[in-house]
Amino acid sequence: MRRSFAFAALLLTTATPALAQNSAPQPVPYEDTIPAPKDVPYPGTIMLNVDATDVEQGIFHVRETIPVAQAGPMVLLYPSWLPGKHASRGEIEKLTGLTITANGETVPWVRDSVDVYAFHLDVPEGVDTLELSFQFTSAVAGNQGRIVVAPSMMNLQFPSVSLYPAGYFTRQIPIEATVTYPEGWTARSGLPATNRGSVYSYEPTNYMVLVDSPVFAGRYFREWELTDRVDLNVFADAPEQLAAATDEMIETHRALVEQAVKLFGTQQYDQYEFLLALTGEMGGIGLEHHRSSENGVDTDYFSGWENALGDRGLLPHEFVHSWNGKYRRGEDLWTPDFRTPMRDNQMWVYEGQTQFWGVVLAARSGMIPKEDVLGLLAFYAAIYGEGRAGRQWRPLIDTTHDPIIAARKPKPWTSWQRSEDYYVEGLLIWLETDAKIRELTGGEKSIDDFARAFFGSGRDGDWGEVTYDFAEVVDTLNGVVAWDWDSFLTERVYDVNPDVPLAGFTENGYRLVFTETPNSYMRNYESQRNRVHLGYSIGLVVSGSGNITEVTWGGPAFEAGLDVADDLIAVNGTAYSNAGLKAAVTAAKDSSDPIRLTVRSGDRIHEVVIDYHGGLRYPRLEKIASGEAGLDRLLQAK
Ligand SMILES: [Zn+2]
Repeated sequence: MRRSFAFAALLLTTATPALAQNSAPQPVPYEDTIPAPKDVPYPGTIMLNVDATDVEQGIFHVRETIPVAQAGPMVLLYPSWLPGKHASRGEIEKLTGLTITANGETVPWVRDSVDVYAFHLDVPEGVDTLELSFQFTSAVAGNQGRIVVAPSMMNLQFPSVSLYPAGYFTRQIPIEATVTYPEGWTARSGLPATNRGSVYSYEPTNYMVLVDSPVFAGRYFREWELTDRVDLNVFADAPEQLAAATDEMIETHRALVEQAVKLFGTQQYDQYEFLLALTGEMGGIGLEHHRSSENGVDTDYFSGWENALGDRGLLPHEFVHSWNGKYRRGEDLWTPDFRTPMRDNQMWVYEGQTQFWGVVLAARSGMIPKEDVLGLLAFYAAIYGEGRAGRQWRPLIDTTHDPIIAARKPKPWTSWQRSEDYYVEGLLIWLETDAKIRELTGGEKSIDDFARAFFGSGRDGDWGEVTYDFAEVVDTLNGVVAWDWDSFLTERVYDVNPDVPLAGFTENGYRLVFTETPNSYMRNYESQRNRVHLGYSIGLVVSGSGNITEVTWGGPAFEAGLDVADDLIAVNGTAYSNAGLKAAVTAAKDSSDPIRLTVRSGDRIHEVVIDYHGGLRYPRLEKIASGEAGLDRLLQAK
């Protein structure tokens, strides 16, 4: 002991002078000179003029006139933290050619070196208006961002084509927008407009509402009035894709609106516009707004209606957001401008209960047949149950930060890293909440009562925002039926829970089982995506070309060393096919021979042996007893 102590002391005395020789600077302080937003009116109305006619190169030309009250320092902001994105996602890199003039003279700008979305300038004496000119150079290839301009349609999002003055709540900044679209195109938005030809003048509004009022415009357009307050506006790459819509399909969309209004009791909009694009050219989207939603689906949405199960879940989800997310919003998610960071702690309500009601309303309206909704729920239960090893270390609440952490980048080990799990795991928690309410009230009440109390108790037509916190969620549940909802939710949301909450099924009359044949939803999933989903057997999801898209952490394929960069080129010596892989898994069940995969990893080709004999396993919900169960009642049209 003594000797080693002496040795350590010797090391210390020799090491210290060596460290001291390294240079060691102090940090330069950063002074944030960007004015904080205040809830006071901006003095004057911004005039925004967008030339959106460049269909070939997708360049939006913008002129913006911003009145100013006084000379001196001023900061202009490009929207960064966008509602619905739950993270800083404004495409600032695509803002180009910015010039600012006043009284014919150039006004120089300097970008803030910490907040690169902020431009500092000095308003000269005697100036009452700034003239801005710039472009938004939208993505022309998928690796640059989402493509918003296609040959026959475009998606204009106002935060991409405008700057706003710092120092004010955005609801306090008046603005009038005028947009010129390509000749012969029709434009639709949640914000009313009058048009002369392809020039649209939008109703004067404030900047917060403008940002929440995106536009779909296009050459091929058809509009259906679903109710006196809700329209379905459909744009397509080609006219025949619109012509394929039948009265029955449109009636199903109408039923969706009717079921949602019956559920919530109120409508938190004056008028609501579904913006729906049937496209293979414009980038995909599903983005909620208060009085509209942006929805992108495949071109065969109508023509391949029977098989478009995945796409048919989109509109129900986005519509629910008008109540949940836009009208009711987590208090720390609501921000006064688009610079203030959002905190995503309530996403298990915002997205979790929207996912829940989206699926339930899809069933109630007939957008997705009940059998397929049960198949989808089984799939969810399996993915987030035994398919989610990450539950062992990461509580659900921590995944609410994933939009900021991961920004939806592809992940090598999704099942271990976890992802935006608050969507589907939130759904499972709300399903269990429904079962609990039914149990506690002897079937008298259900989660419908919570929805009406939480989302539909305000003034009909109020399209402002009402914020909430965890305590209000608990209080509202207690108003439906008294119980220890605080502990119930805390355990499921805040604690590490290796086991997925499945009581929403078992207490509502169904249980999750695994069978060798996929249910109709999984069959549709595999054929529509040209994939084979063996996540619960050998632990792989593989595309038709043999590319591995998922490897289940801890599963047989994982233990054999496979990852998502690998391609399967042969199974048991035969060239890869989805059917061949499934046949090999089935054959191994009654054999002691392992499954032999020939794998390409970069330039290396090698054999991987998977000693798995459990056969195919596909999730499915099975009814526990005969008669109508709670889940049946939940999915029934009201
Ligand atoms: Zn959503």
